[in-house]
Order: sequence, then C-alpha cells, then structure tokens
Amino acid sequence: MKRVASHESLAYLGHLKNMLEQADIACLIKNEQLSGGLGEIPFLECLPELWILKDEQAARAARLLAELERVDSSGPAWTCSACGERNEPQFGACWQCGRADETATE
Ligand SMILES: [Zn+2]
Repeated sequence: MKRVASHESLAYLGHLKNMLEQADIACLIKNEQLSGGLGEIPFLECLPELWILKDEQAARAARLLAELERVDSSGPAWTCSACGERNEPQFGACWQCGRADETATE
C-alpha cells in the first residue's frame, strides 16, 4: 500500500482513481468519509487520499498522475457557478466557496 495523491476534492481523486484503474493499477480512496461538506475546508490530515495496493506500481502511478496533472492544469480557467469567482484550471473546487467545478469533465 502506498499513498500516491491527496486532494481536497473527492471528485478529483475519484477521477484519478478511474484513470489508474484503466491502467490496471488497483487503488482505493481513504478518508473519503471525513471530508467536509460543500463550503467546508477539511483539515489537512483529513484530506481524502488515493492509495495504490501494489507498491511496485508506484513509479508507474506517479508518472500517470504527473501526466494527468499537466493536462488538467493546461485547461482554461473556470468561473464558479455559485459565487462567480474565477478559478485556475488546476483547482477542482472554488477556492472562494468550495463549490466543485461543474464544468469539469468526468
Ligand atoms: Zn465559488
């Protein structure tokens, strides 16, 4: 078992999990029940975490995640539908009010 990512957005981690599973890397999300509701910022130690089951796949998982992050952060900025705040593409949720990015493709 090895932690490969943590993120305040469970939806984002779920997206990463899907990507890893498509690459035959078994993984699971920890702390998903501890994350706060919309608009709440969970404590750092309670952030949802993505773990892979087989340590020997860590390097491959890290490469995939790095690639995914590069792609994600090159997208357009998005505007929060709840408060109108403009957010950078790498944020999966509004930094102002915490609402998830509804324009994100799952
Ligand atoms: Zn907002």
